[in-house]
Amino acid sequence: MARTTPPRPVNMAEVFPELAGMTRTTTRLHPRRGAPTVEQSSVGGPLLWPAEEPWPRCHDCHQDRYRFSVPLTPLHEIRAARGLATDEPGPLRAEESEALRRSRQGLRIGEFLPNQVPLLPVAQLYAAEIPDLACPPDTDLLQVLWCPFDHEDDYTPNVWLYWRRASDIEQVLLDPPEPALVGNDDYVPRPCVLHPERVTEFPPSDQLPEDLSEQILQWEAGKVAKYQYDLSVPPGWKVGGWNATWTFRDPEPLHCEECGAGVGPLMAVDDREWDGGSRSWRPVEDNEKTDRESRQSVQNSTQIDIGRGYTLQIYCCSRDRTHPCVTAMQ
Ligand SMILES: [Zn+2]
Ligand SMILES: [Zn+2]
Repeated sequence: MARTTPPRPVNMAEVFPELAGMTRTTTRLHPRRGAPTVEQSSVGGPLLWPAEEPWPRCHDCHQDRYRFSVPLTPLHEIRAARGLATDEPGPLRAEESEALRRSRQGLRIGEFLPNQVPLLPVAQLYAAEIPDLACPPDTDLLQVLWCPFDHEDDYTPNVWLYWRRASDIEQVLLDPPEPALVGNDDYVPRPCVLHPERVTEFPPSDQLPEDLSEQILQWEAGKVAKYQYDLSVPPGWKVGGWNATWTFRDPEPLHCEECGAGVGPLMAVDDREWDGGSRSWRPVEDNEKTDRESRQSVQNSTQIDIGRGYTLQIYCCSRDRTHPCVTAMQ
């Protein structure tokens, strides 16, 4: 079933003609529970990963830091708690068992799993299905993976991007390694198929000229629809368009760590597609009845949660999209 965003309650380009030249298109992904295959775009689904290519592992965490005061959780327990079928897990390695035991006792867990945590598949996006996915030359597939631990700089998962040409892959890796233990169960996506939908959006308030932003604030006084929540950037998983609004801290200029060039928004990872303050973004096909029937949150089908209600914005280098991505919790 397609997902359709209702028309915005107000067309801001008519109210403020200077906004008309600032629109961008974005593709809302609308992830919903399902059983995606390697040939489909997905969140938390299997990847079209070449059999001959080593599975990536995180080399940048899992040291003795205070964040592990939160107990670690075996991946299979997270899946079982969500009603997902899991294979019988292999035995934990000795150092994993020890780390789990110590974390459950609230102890500092010491050096642990250095360089050995396999990444988790987060999203797979075929350009043919996602109109706002701008791929580097000769590629048509983006695979997003992350390490399911909080990391030092931003208390977010470490993200890796892999750009590929799908037709190059002859043999698919069938049984990729998985992390036995997870540092934050909010980073384990539930398998979802996507229902991409292209919509038009206006810049977030923090990207507007100051006087225009001020005028909009005055205009929305007493109105139900608010620019930030209803009229500019949609919440939820999306590709392209404007970046998510910076919420709990001021916008900061970000740069590519490899070449120093500026970066542009690639993708937003969000916990929900609408909420009480942004209900107008709820697709017409998803109503209260859908929520009740599925007995699961449709608002957050992936069960990903970044920093308890924030957005993880993934940015790409403006000079070369194959450079390592930059992320920010916003
Ligand atoms: Zn890591
Ligand atoms: Zn760069």
